[in-house]
Amino acid sequence: MLSRLRNGLASLQWREFALAPSRCPFCGPSLFVRLHRGDAGVRCVRCTAAEIHLALGRALQELVPGISLLDACEFSARGPLVEHLRRHARSVAVSEYFADVEPGRSRDGVRCEDMQRLTYADSSFDLVTHTEVLEHVPDDALALAELHRVLRRGGRMLFSVPLLGETTVVRARLVDGAVVHLLPPAYHADPQRPDTGVLAFRDYGADLLDRLRAAGFADVRLHTVQSPLAWLPARRIVFARKA
Ligand SMILES: [Zn+2]
Repeated sequence: MLSRLRNGLASLQWREFALAPSRCPFCGPSLFVRLHRGDAGVRCVRCTAAEIHLALGRALQELVPGISLLDACEFSARGPLVEHLRRHARSVAVSEYFADVEPGRSRDGVRCEDMQRLTYADSSFDLVTHTEVLEHVPDDALALAELHRVLRRGGRMLFSVPLLGETTVVRARLVDGAVVHLLPPAYHADPQRPDTGVLAFRDYGADLLDRLRAAGFADVRLHTVQSPLAWLPARRIVFARKA
C-alpha cells in the first residue's frame, strides 16, 4: 500500500492535481485523486485502485450479481481487485506469470500461471477476470481456449485490454521460442517488470470479439462503464460467457 502511494506520488504533476468525492466499487464512498493525465493517474484514496481496476470493479457490480456464490479466478495476485474478490467471492484463485517459474508452482507464495497452458482443472471457476494481460500473451487463441476450458458452463469472463480500433494489429509473434517483431516493439508498464515493461504482442480492435466466439464463448460483447468522475472517460470492458 505504502509503495503504491509512493509510486503514485513520484508521478505527481501539480498542475493536474485534483480531488473529488465519488463512490469506489471496492470500498464505497471515497475520495479520488488525479495525480497526472495518464491512464494510471487517477486513484481511489482509500484503496489506491487505479482507473482500469475501478472500471472492472464497476462492470462486476453491473454484470455479475451474487458474487458471494462464485468461485473466481484472477490473473494478478495483489491489489484492490484481488482484495475485493477475496472479501466477496466464495473463493478466488490468484496468480502471476513468471517466465522462470513452472506453471502451477509458486514464487514468494505467488502461484505462476501461463494463460496458454493453465494448470487449473476443467470447469473450475464461475468467474474469470484479468486486466491488461491478454495482449501480452504470445498465442491468444491458446489462451482463450484455456480460459474457456477452466470456466464452468454459464461462467463469465470480464477483462480489459487496450482497445484501439476496429481491427486487431499483430505487433509480434513467437516463432520457435524467439520473438519476431512485425512492428516496432511496444512495451506496457508492468509492476512485475518495472525496468523493462512487458511486450505487447497485439493492439486489439473490436474484432477481438470474433476471437472470443472462435474460442467457443457466447454472449460476447463490449460493456461500456461510465465513470462517475468527470476526469475519466468511459471504459470498455470485454464480457463473455461459457454457454
Ligand atoms: Zn477504493
